[in-house]
Amino acid sequence: MSGTLKIALTYDVERNSPPIIKSTGSVYSGLDLMPEVIDIMRAHRATGTWYIAHDTEEQNQIARHFPDLVAAMAAQGEIGSHFHFRENGVVRTDEAYQRQGLTEATRFLRSLGHKVTGFRGGNLYLTPVTLRILEELGYETDSSVLPGHRVVMNDGLAIDHTGRRSCEPYYPREGDPWSGGGNRLLEIPMSAAPIVSFWTPLVSVLVNYIVGISNLVVFDPERAAQRVRIIRAKWPTKNALVVLSAHPYDFLDGRMSAQDKLRNFDRFLALVGAMPGASFATAAEIRSGWAPPDSARCTRADRAPLKLTTGEVRVLRNRLHRRPVAPPHTVS
Ligand SMILES: [Zn+2]
Repeated sequence: MSGTLKIALTYDVERNSPPIIKSTGSVYSGLDLMPEVIDIMRAHRATGTWYIAHDTEEQNQIARHFPDLVAAMAAQGEIGSHFHFRENGVVRTDEAYQRQGLTEATRFLRSLGHKVTGFRGGNLYLTPVTLRILEELGYETDSSVLPGHRVVMNDGLAIDHTGRRSCEPYYPREGDPWSGGGNRLLEIPMSAAPIVSFWTPLVSVLVNYIVGISNLVVFDPERAAQRVRIIRAKWPTKNALVVLSAHPYDFLDGRMSAQDKLRNFDRFLALVGAMPGASFATAAEIRSGWAPPDSARCTRADRAPLKLTTGEVRVLRNRLHRRPVAPPHTVS
C-alpha cells in the first residue's frame, strides 16, 4: 500500500475520576506508570501529545504537582492543555468561566516554558465559544471531536459530536466546530470507526460506532493494529491518520496487570511502527503537514464517514460484544 500512515498517541494527563479514585484510593494513581510508558515510546521513537490537565481545582493542576513528569513528557513530544468545565464539581460552561479557566491553564503551562498550542476539552466538550477562546489564546490545534460521539454526563454536561462524521482533520467554522471551512485552528478528530452508517436523501445516519482502538491497545495489541489497518484502508485519501487517546489510569492493574498492559503497548508500537509508510506524529506536526484552510474541505465527500463492508462490520461487532470497550473519556 502506498501513502503514509501517521499515528498520533495522545494522552489526557489528569488525576483519577470516580469510580477509579474509589477503586484505587489514590487521586493520582497511574501517573507513576508514565515514566515506563515514556521509556517504551522512546524505544520506538514514538512521540506523544500530552494534554496536561489544569482545572480550577488545584488538585487537578498536574504540572503544579508533577513538573518533572511533565518535563519528561515534553522531551517525548508535545505539551498541550486539558480543561474540565467544572468548578468544585459543578458544570460551568458559561463564556466567562470558559475564558477565565482556559486563559489560566494556558498561561500556567506556558510559564513553564511549554509552547502549548494544542487543546483537548474535558469529556470532549467543545462549543463555538470554546473554539473562539482557543483561537484568541493562539491555539493551533484542537482534538476534542470524536466523530459520531454523543453523551450526557451524570452531572448534565452534554457532548454531541454527531455533526461530524469524518475522521479527517479540518479547519472548523467558527459558529459550527463540526463543519469545515473556517479559521486557522486545525481540528484533529479522534479516530472512530462506524459500525453502521448510511445516507438517506434527507439525513445522514450514523448508527453506533467503535472508538475502541485506544482501549484495545493495552488489552489486545493485534486486534488494535488490525483496526488501524481497517481505518487506513478506508481512509478517503492515500495519507491516513489514526489518533489514539489514553489516560494514565488506563495502564493500572485491573483485569490485566499493569506489566502486561505495558508489554502490550510495546507490542502495539512495534506492530504499527512496522507498517509501510508509518510514522508517529504530534498534533503540531500533523498541522504543519496539513493544507491551509480552504472551502474544498466542506464538501460532502469530506464529511463522509469511513465505509465498512458487512464482513468488516461483523468482525468489529463480534469483538465489541465479546469484550465491551468503554468509550474513552466519558468519565473524565
Ligand atoms: Zn479529562
